[in-house]
Amino acid sequence: LFITFEGGEGAGKSTQIRRLAEKLRRKGYDTLVTREPGGSPGAEALRHVILSGAAEPFGPRMEALLFAAARSDHVEQVIRPAIERGAIVLCDRFLDSSRVYQGLANDDDSAFVAMLERVAVNGMMPDMTLIFDIDAEIGMRRAAARRGAGEADRFEKETLETHRRRRDAFLAIAEKEPERCIVVDASESEDEVEQLVTAAVFAALEV
Ligand code: C5P
Repeated sequence: LFITFEGGEGAGKSTQIRRLAEKLRRKGYDTLVTREPGGSPGAEALRHVILSGAAEPFGPRMEALLFAAARSDHVEQVIRPAIERGAIVLCDRFLDSSRVYQGLANDDDSAFVAMLERVAVNGMMPDMTLIFDIDAEIGMRRAAARRGAGEADRFEKETLETHRRRRDAFLAIAEKEPERCIVVDASESEDEVEQLVTAAVFAALEV
């Protein structure tokens, strides 16, 4: 079972992934937690290049290619082997983040972004995607509070409007692919969100 967690910053994805993983492991499920950009040694190296601001002169097309390169490595080195041995894979961000972030950055070139998705994902589609939905302003505030030092530059110039457009783009994906995507109201308390996530995942495990 391959489950991805998506949404804007500050929506609480990482906390919920940690809680869900603990619960699944307690029940005896082989569970792998991973994240993007990153998740394999090669992709983590690219994460550093991309998020440190070093990639800024590269432009949106090149950045999209770097994300795709990182995803391809992550899929083939980590995700596919885990799925093949029967593990549950919980991934913090995956292809929908590229549709939203790289999609908006390359908005006159959606065919390019779609092509990179096909190459990088290479058939490894998530069985379930939980889209954490949060008001853009609240998310921005939460994310600013916990941001890592080396990763700050890239975000400073972002506007509320950008965050709103991303939120809308995530919701549009959920609407278009309701069989894969579940929207989680991330403004609820952590315990309430945990209940929603647990219910969705255990329902999928029972079928
Ligand atoms: O999940 P987290 O918020 O730590 O992600 C790090 C950042 O990487 C995101 O806030 C986003 O700006 C960026 N990102 C991106 N495109 C992706 C995935 C992440 O721009 N496909």
